[in-house]
Amino acid sequence: MSGNGGLTFADPASPHGGELFQQWFEFAPDAMVITAEAGTIELVNLQTERLFGYDRSELVGQPVEVLVPERFRAAHVGHRAGFVDAPKLRPMQSGLELIARRKDGSEFPVEISLSPLKTGAGTLVASAIRDVSARKRADRKSQAFLDSAPDAMLIVDGSGHITRVNAQTETLFGYPREELLGRTIELLVPARLRVQHRLQCEVYARQPKARSMGCGSDSYGVRKDGHEFPVDISLKPLETEDGTWVLTAIRDISERRQIEVEARLASDRLLSAVESIQGMLALYDADDRLVLCNSSCRELMSRGAKGSIVGRTFAGLLQDALHAQVFELEEQSPQEFAAAWLEYHQNPLGAFDVRTRAGETLRVTDRRTREGGIVSTLLDVTADVQRELELTHARTLAESASAAKSEFLASMSHELRTPLNSILGFAQLLQRDRKTPLTERQLEKLDYVLQGGEHLQRLIDDILDLSRVEAGQVTVSLEPVGVLEVLSEATATLAPMAERQGVELRLQALPEGCQVIADRTRLFQILINFGSNAIKYNRAGGAASFGVAPVGSGALRISVSDDGIGISSDKQHKIFEAFQRAGQETGPIEGTGIGLTISKRLAELMSGSVGFVSAPGKGSQFWLDLPQHEAPEAHRAIPKLEVPALPSLLGPLHTVVYIEDNPSNIAFMRALFEDFARVDLIALPNAEVGIEVVRDKRPELVIMDLNLPGMSGFEATKRLQEWPETASIPVIALTAAAMTGYQRRAFEAGFRKCLTKPVKIDELLQTLRELLPARSSVDSDP
Ligand code: ADP
Repeated sequence: MSGNGGLTFADPASPHGGELFQQWFEFAPDAMVITAEAGTIELVNLQTERLFGYDRSELVGQPVEVLVPERFRAAHVGHRAGFVDAPKLRPMQSGLELIARRKDGSEFPVEISLSPLKTGAGTLVASAIRDVSARKRADRKSQAFLDSAPDAMLIVDGSGHITRVNAQTETLFGYPREELLGRTIELLVPARLRVQHRLQCEVYARQPKARSMGCGSDSYGVRKDGHEFPVDISLKPLETEDGTWVLTAIRDISERRQIEVEARLASDRLLSAVESIQGMLALYDADDRLVLCNSSCRELMSRGAKGSIVGRTFAGLLQDALHAQVFELEEQSPQEFAAAWLEYHQNPLGAFDVRTRAGETLRVTDRRTREGGIVSTLLDVTADVQRELELTHARTLAESASAAKSEFLASMSHELRTPLNSILGFAQLLQRDRKTPLTERQLEKLDYVLQGGEHLQRLIDDILDLSRVEAGQVTVSLEPVGVLEVLSEATATLAPMAERQGVELRLQALPEGCQVIADRTRLFQILINFGSNAIKYNRAGGAASFGVAPVGSGALRISVSDDGIGISSDKQHKIFEAFQRAGQETGPIEGTGIGLTISKRLAELMSGSVGFVSAPGKGSQFWLDLPQHEAPEAHRAIPKLEVPALPSLLGPLHTVVYIEDNPSNIAFMRALFEDFARVDLIALPNAEVGIEVVRDKRPELVIMDLNLPGMSGFEATKRLQEWPETASIPVIALTAAAMTGYQRRAFEAGFRKCLTKPVKIDELLQTLRELLPARSSVDSDP
């Protein structure tokens, strides 16, 4: 190498030493520059020429600052002087990183080591300059890589000092990079946790291994401004020349913690809501495993299952409960019980009731969730079920009490009617007796007997009627009813009474063809009650007048006005109550005080109402409002009642069989039939004998008492209908039991007529005329 100026290689120790050294120097991999104390370049090598682009002749003799960018030159002169004053070896990688300048002005990073060379001519400085561009590039790349990480990344050396950080670390902790590098990692740990942190570091240092995020304990970081925040840390040991370093990734989990807190809060709220539910609640997932339940449900389940019940399947828990005999199985086997409950659990429709051995009744209500699971609630309905039972029991008692009352009334009526039958029957016979007629005075007295008997009969009928209405046994069959028709019938019925009382009965001109929706019989009954009162509570020479007028929307008012005694104002409010006679209790006018009560109830049954106005001493008006029926024109014509021609009771001999156990009834009937010369009455005391006689004699008619000892009248009639030879013989039912249903039952059983005792002779005669075959024109009406 020629051209090196004032400095040459020479080794006094070896003839080749100078040459070897020269070659080493010349071909050293780093740029080698030797400068004099004054800073002038004395010697450079080949690498210097290559690195800086200078020919060595251009450098020797120049101040070393030619290799430094202009902006650092002044400072460099200072550094250089400092080194000369205290020269010592300064190796590469000691942090002395500088920027060098090429001849062409371009700059590049270098690392420089300096070593002082003592010579006779003073202290020289040998600089080895290494281009670190490539390493810097690699560094930048790895920094960019670190910066791209979402978490804060730090590299910490074996003594806990931070050697490298990424941009995220700066952002997260609020420190600029320079303030972090070289500091211990503890800077980022809250003071209160530093001791603990140190311990953890020591433990880790002993056995460093990769530790991923989320597996650490509660860790916190602290920002430069003192704000603490929860972090997740992952650690990875890095083996370096300087020992084990650690790559640390730190993630701010404040947001996650917040979400966790909120989720926990929501879950706590849900749990306390579930807990506060009255009754038991259990939630099963799509695999039918218990996910959640409240404590009362847990209490029930744990009667059967041991240990934790969450995660168990419903079927498993049920099996355990059955095993522990938690439930009352009634008649079922455990398998049947479980199958029924599982079936409901899988297809929950409505509710499913179970009973526990402890006596509770639980109402299970399962519902499917959108996720395919099941929410099951179990409500303790023991008290409800008990109440229900008590109610049913009370209802049964009430029903049987009511039935007993009805039975009592029916039998009482039977008991009363039987003797009454004799009283009224024989009194009527005495009245009509042609063979030994009574005297005028006797007839007068007999009239009292008859009146008294009839009153008693009405009273019995009214009480029975009222009790039937009150027991809800009276049903009405509503149909269009011609008002004129019913009123004509009622006035005709009332006419004899009015005549007796000297009261004029009037029927005001009615609009033609008007109809109401009513039960014909019940309407008639009310009109008779109103009409008979208007006659009874009248005065001689007074009048009772029926009228009809429209009221309100779609209703007709049928009224009865009288100019009788009226009702005193203080009694008027009780007029529709049972047994209230408004001051007539002690008076001469006969009555029971039930008629208006029944009328009111019947009107209500027909969706109608009753009312009245009355002035004492002047008269009263009672009315009944009923829904009007708008009849089509064609139907408005009032049908004419045809009175059927009465068939004769004469002709060949008729045979009538009377099956009756009561001797006085038989005596009465015999006395009555005595007047029919051509009727042979065969009376028989029981059904068993009676039907045999009917079979044998084939009478024209059978009169059958319904209440017979042994075989009943119903049964006997059934038998007669079954035999071809007797099937067509008409049978009349005769009964003292005037309870609802008897009539209907009698017709259903095939009776032609159903007459009640005491026998009304006219009614019986009319029936005989209808049913006995007419074979003669001669009428022997007695
Ligand atoms: P009864 O006529 O059998 O006593 P009701 O129930 O039919 O029973 O009538 C109850 C009471 O109302 C009668 O006792 C009578 O005092 C009074 N009353 C009913 N209608 C009239 C009327 N048109 N005029 C005067 N008082 C009447």
